Amino acid sequence: MQAQLEKILDKNRNKIQYGNLPTYIPELTKANKDALGIYISQPDGKEFGAGDYGYKFTIQSISKVITLIMALEDWGPAYIFEKVGMEPTGDAFNSMMKLEIVRPSKPFNPMINAGAIAVTSMIKGNSPEEKIDRIMKFFKLITQNPTLEINKSIYMSEKKTGDRNRAMAYFMKDVGVINEDVEGNLDVYFRQCSIEVTCKDISRIGLFLSNNGILKETGEQLINPEYTKIAKAFMVTCGMYNASGEFAINVGIPAKSGVGGGIMAVVPGRMGIGVVGPSLDEKGNSIAGIGVLKDISKELDLSIF
Ligand code: GLU
Repeated sequence: MQAQLEKILDKNRNKIQYGNLPTYIPELTKANKDALGIYISQPDGKEFGAGDYGYKFTIQSISKVITLIMALEDWGPAYIFEKVGMEPTGDAFNSMMKLEIVRPSKPFNPMINAGAIAVTSMIKGNSPEEKIDRIMKFFKLITQNPTLEINKSIYMSEKKTGDRNRAMAYFMKDVGVINEDVEGNLDVYFRQCSIEVTCKDISRIGLFLSNNGILKETGEQLINPEYTKIAKAFMVTCGMYNASGEFAINVGIPAKSGVGGGIMAVVPGRMGIGVVGPSLDEKGNSIAGIGVLKDISKELDLSIF
């Protein structure tokens, strides 16, 4: 497996040059564009890492999967899906175009920025601090990594330049999707996106989801297995932005990407995969990371379809 992973990384490295670092969050331009790494965590305890698997990057949109699960645990699906829809948009992750299309207004799904901000606003906690504390605790538990931290400069950069997210959040307050504390909710969202992780961390989250919410280390069922199914369904339909259909056909694994260059992939019952490659394609997905997952899926026959 190790040699196979190294070979797949080498084969996909040349794609890096055709992508770019995101510039809309200025601090993300400091990433190492050439980094490429992968980590696989299996339920039998076997783990494999190749390339830059120790490279640190911010989790960004991958965090949306976990905050969705937390909000579902807090409120149950009926309440959450009254405020946020279940359908892919076919638009960019930060598009606000469809916010007003359905009446009463609600974001199309929890994987686009608007939907994720709404979901984060529903996580229980008496203050933004309490909410982010709960989120950090949960991330540390499911990654089994107590050293996880928020990258302060990326968080500040997002907060300073996040006007599009801010605009959507104020609109959602106006239509009753989120409560009055718009800035507090945004602050939690910016911080959750700025959690610094490695491929290993996200592969552990992937394993947790592949295990339907059972933590391998303790055997404990941490969350309702139904909610992991909801999360995986959203990963298939909306996890790779507006390239989710193509990814389902070419790779066939539930996955969620982030503009930090990470992709978390979940092969039900078999493994969690974490990939990093900060050079992004025009839709915001790791350009070499997609190639790597496509090859692994073929070689190990991982497609769920
Ligand atoms: N923090 C990023 C944003 O709000 C997350 C986007 C992403 O990773 O897709 O734009």
